[in-house]
Amino acid sequence: MSDTIFGKIAAGEVDADVVYQDDDCVAFRDLNPQAPTHILVVPRKPIRTLNDVTEGDAELVGKLFLAAAKVARQEGIAERGYRTIINCNAEAGQTVFHLHVHVIGGRPLRWPPG
Ligand code: AMP
Repeated sequence: MSDTIFGKIAAGEVDADVVYQDDDCVAFRDLNPQAPTHILVVPRKPIRTLNDVTEGDAELVGKLFLAAAKVARQEGIAERGYRTIINCNAEAGQTVFHLHVHVIGGRPLRWPPG
């Protein structure tokens, strides 16, 4: 089992504002939202970074994005638009080393993000 905070949330050992879960993924609200909707979708399986995804995780990563799109629909932002982000390692600002997809929306988002 992962010893990160997201691993503990996925295992139900730490509380979070969970908005969706299935056998493979858990989605919960970010504690420090950058937009009206800011949700993190994580696999239950602890994978440190995108660099650590293997061929064997291909189906799981597909399910992670299916869950992200489901959450966007559930939050009512799917048609307006939203952004999915995976930060990988230091220069991208990754702070929690359990793979996660940010689902951000509910306001116009600038591009490029800077
Ligand atoms: P990243 O920089 O991609 O690793 O993003 C980590 C995100 O996790 C940040 O946006 C934090 O605000 C968020 N975060 C950290 N701890 C928690 C927590 N316990 N519950 C919800 N979000 C969290």
